[in-house]
Amino acid sequence: MKSDDLISRDKSVIWHPFTQSAIEQEMLDIDRASGASLFLTSGEELIDGISSWWCNLHGHGHPDLVKAATNQFKRLDHVLFAGCTHEPAVALGEELVRVLPGDMGKVFYSDNGSTAVEVALKMAIQWWHNRGDSRGTIVALTGSYHGDTFGAMSAGARGLFTKPFDQMLFQVEHLDVDQPEQAIASIESLCAAGKVAAFIYEPLIQGAGGMRIYSRDTLERLIDICKSYGVICIADEVMTGFGRTGPLFASSSLKTAPDIICISKGLTSGSVPLSATVCSEEIFQGFVSREMTHTFFHGHTYTGNPIAASIALASLKLTESDECAANRARIQAAHVKCARELSALPAVSNARVLGTVIAFDLLDPEGKGYLSSVRDDASRFFRSRGVLLRPLGNVVYALPPYCITDEQLERLHRSMIDFAAGDGLGARLTTI
Ligand code: PLP
Repeated sequence: MKSDDLISRDKSVIWHPFTQSAIEQEMLDIDRASGASLFLTSGEELIDGISSWWCNLHGHGHPDLVKAATNQFKRLDHVLFAGCTHEPAVALGEELVRVLPGDMGKVFYSDNGSTAVEVALKMAIQWWHNRGDSRGTIVALTGSYHGDTFGAMSAGARGLFTKPFDQMLFQVEHLDVDQPEQAIASIESLCAAGKVAAFIYEPLIQGAGGMRIYSRDTLERLIDICKSYGVICIADEVMTGFGRTGPLFASSSLKTAPDIICISKGLTSGSVPLSATVCSEEIFQGFVSREMTHTFFHGHTYTGNPIAASIALASLKLTESDECAANRARIQAAHVKCARELSALPAVSNARVLGTVIAFDLLDPEGKGYLSSVRDDASRFFRSRGVLLRPLGNVVYALPPYCITDEQLERLHRSMIDFAAGDGLGARLTTI
């Protein structure tokens, strides 16, 4: 395949996500992938430093996942999930209930992070509705991101991504975790007023909001207040699930478990789309009734897809292995060393690590945040070093697949340090 051909055919028919085609930089033509590496049609190799949008855990084309997919494809590729069931979906459900924190009872499948969140919000609101309670207020955190569908956008922070739709989004009370006492007082009074249906949060780290690691103590206090009022707590573990922050789920390390957990991305190690909204038995029982209007009338064509579920089972087995835990610890230790070096650089602030996530803020003299042109310079520089990174504006971050080798990890870290030290910043450094 000639690269120029592919790029020009792409230009004529494809509309890419989060992409301004009038000014977007060069498109990468990816031909194949293996382990932590992506290969362009030219043969050029790039380390997948962001796990293909935070989802690849065990490397591209892992043989166990390929085998699970192939065997399942031959046996049963897909069947509707209303009125039908099958072994992979049930076995995965059993495994998820076993590994997720708290007392989870039922698994509702869909196919991406946004739909997992939509399902959670609808579940929470209808749970109250089925009890004859019309409360509909959702509480969320400022700086949060829960996806791009309307409900998920409503719950997320308002700003650049949501502006054209703001008048269409339902009202959500956003609390600022950086102002803990104010956030605690607000949630207390909102809950006391009896209007709050649910509190949704990305536990410990806000991903798209800028890899913002926030106070565990404040989150635990917010959850505890909600619990004391019977408000449904929804943990959006779409990014944090499956070991990203260290433990299997970020919520596993919190004092109190949520009532509903949204998972996707790492569920299939980023190979095929699948997500799940997992809830306590108490939430599920709120829908069980001879009264048909209490039914959860929600579903998607590919709900519970058997191939995806089989891959997820194989991926979970790998994630629970000692080897995977050791790899996550190895990456975290190397990240911490790298963050120490980054912290000494004048262009860097807030170098931070949580599990296998490393991030830092690059000085942003124009104050443009997500729209900072640093991203374009950075992407070009990292490519020249054989690394794929996609900064969030002036926030440079990496979260590699757990299978990344020591040599690849060293190359990834060195490129981040060299970039921030000035190699990739050019004239920008003179403004510091
Ligand atoms: N929730 C969180 C925390 C996310 O990070 C994302 C995506 O990055 C989503 C939801 C939306 O997931 P998807 O892009 O699969 O719709």
